[in-house]
Amino acid sequence: MPSPHNWRTTDEDEINRRRARARTEEFRTSNTDPRHPIFSNFRVRSGSGLTYSVEIRDVRQRQFACDCVDFRINALGTCKHIEAVLLQLQGRFRRLFRAAETNGTPRLDLMPDPANDSVRLLNGGGRLPGALQAWFHPDGALRKGPPEEAVEALKQLAANEAPQLRLSQELGP
Ligand SMILES: [Zn+2]
Repeated sequence: MPSPHNWRTTDEDEINRRRARARTEEFRTSNTDPRHPIFSNFRVRSGSGLTYSVEIRDVRQRQFACDCVDFRINALGTCKHIEAVLLQLQGRFRRLFRAAETNGTPRLDLMPDPANDSVRLLNGGGRLPGALQAWFHPDGALRKGPPEEAVEALKQLAANEAPQLRLSQELGP
């Protein structure tokens, strides 16, 4: 850990600094969908009393999201809230977490696709469950629009037939 007064830090230093804060500060985390112990969405309450939303998308490739300001501006792909969730998961689900680091995610994540003004499915790997084939090309691109209608229909699918499907917290209105 570099001194906090050292401004010339590497990304690695910056990530370590957030990990250290995740260890030393107090956070209360809760899984919003316990069907998925690791690849889920979490509410994280920090010592300051504010609550943040964390999405654990892929542990192996370190794909995460948080709605805090630090995550939005630091370009590190992590923040102390995400690191706090990872630490807790590592402690609580030792074996599952190790498997997650090796195997990647079993979930299919519906993400915003700003370049195409649409939405896109991640992690399908070319093989989609039947219920989703009608909606997406094998590469994850949406077959038919408008995206707002697709999102509404996919919300229903995620709640019923396709629990591995997740609508990312980064999907805006
Ligand atoms: Zn955060």
